[in-house]
Amino acid sequence: MTSTTPEHITVLGAGILGAAAAHHLSRRGARVSVIDAQTAGDRATTASFACVNGSAKSEPALAALNDRGVAEYHHVAAALGDAAVRFTGQHFVATDAESLRVAELRVHAARARGYGGELLDGAALREREPRMRLDTVPLAVAWFDADGWADPDAIRRHFLTGLQVRQRRATSIVPTSSGRLRVEFADGDSTDTDRVVNATGAGAPDIHLPAARTTRGAASFGLVVSVDTPVDLVSTVIRTPRLGIRPDGHNRALLHSHDVDAVITRGEITTHDATEILLDRARHMFPDAVGINARRATIGPRPIPPDGAPSVGALAAVPGYYELSAHSGVTLAPLLGRLLAEEILTGAHNPLTAPFRPDRFRKAPS
Ligand SMILES: Cc1cc2nc3c(=O)[nH]c(=O)nc-3n(C[C@H](O)[C@H](O)[C@H](O)COP(=O)(O)OP(=O)(O)OC[C@H]3O[C@@H](n4cnc5c(N)ncnc54)[C@H](O)[C@@H]3O)c2cc1C
Repeated sequence: MTSTTPEHITVLGAGILGAAAAHHLSRRGARVSVIDAQTAGDRATTASFACVNGSAKSEPALAALNDRGVAEYHHVAAALGDAAVRFTGQHFVATDAESLRVAELRVHAARARGYGGELLDGAALREREPRMRLDTVPLAVAWFDADGWADPDAIRRHFLTGLQVRQRRATSIVPTSSGRLRVEFADGDSTDTDRVVNATGAGAPDIHLPAARTTRGAASFGLVVSVDTPVDLVSTVIRTPRLGIRPDGHNRALLHSHDVDAVITRGEITTHDATEILLDRARHMFPDAVGINARRATIGPRPIPPDGAPSVGALAAVPGYYELSAHSGVTLAPLLGRLLAEEILTGAHNPLTAPFRPDRFRKAPS
């Protein structure tokens, strides 16, 4: 299988980031092939808590990128309606000295850059989320009304409309003598193409790139439990140190917790036991809501570029090769997919992506 038409672009990975890039490339007239290994459990997008937010970032360049990522979601909302994205706002609840420090820092940083945020007290939270009970009175509650949540699989499907996804596992990307790139697959086949977008998420470090020595990222694993609830438990995204919860449609919510993710990543707990922990915490937090039951528990690999920040754009050492990877990839996908497509088709990269170029991971030749 060898493609000969010039400017054929192969997008590896059909998670939300690859889908967004493929969408923006094809709607600008590029000839795009999408390839995905499609192995169950390989995709972060399907397992995501999918909070769309600028508030969790305070480093200026990353925060500016995330703020723009949230703004880009207003185009998604215009196209897909509020089943795909809701700007409900987010409460970040501080119950100890460390979470108070984080809450104050986030509000200060968000206000300073115009994203908006305020510090509330526990009484205000109780009024807004009356079903929720906390064991301790919050020291403060950081509130960000620009944040929200998305249905990443619906958005991913929307971005892939009209595009065929071929099932293949890429193993290496090698420059050819004619100036193109050869993508080699696990089944021994290969395809030649003009450009490659590597959007394989946590799978990226396994794809061999012999033309460039780079520091590769890693993955952490995360669990999200979707629950049926007798009533709508919350109307906003809520993060406490013990539980993240957000609405997920009528009488449904998603549960997540970073400390549970950490034990899952270390392999110290089964999915069943981790799910029970999140369910117990939710039942404890909403004692009057009898009948909070799991409908689905999903574990996914969260791609983590080496310094935790996104990796987007061309790698100078390998002409035609581009990376697209992000830890908060749901928030950033619509924006980064568009910016990368513009870079590929015009040759110029947007200044917003300047601090996040993959070239920063290039290792000196040994
Ligand atoms: C528990 C959890 C909670 C999260 N919460 C949030 C949040 O609140 N907000 C937020 O913005 N982000 C969140 N994230 C992160 C976000 O979900 C990811 O950053 C995003 O989904 C990454 O998308 P992706 O397209 O890069 O990766 P993926 O969705 O993992 O897609 C990568 C695709 O590449 C394919 N692939 C892999 N290897 C190969 C190969 N060798 N050849 C071909 N195809 C391959 C896979 O099959 C997969 O379909 C969370 C993630 C998790 C796990």
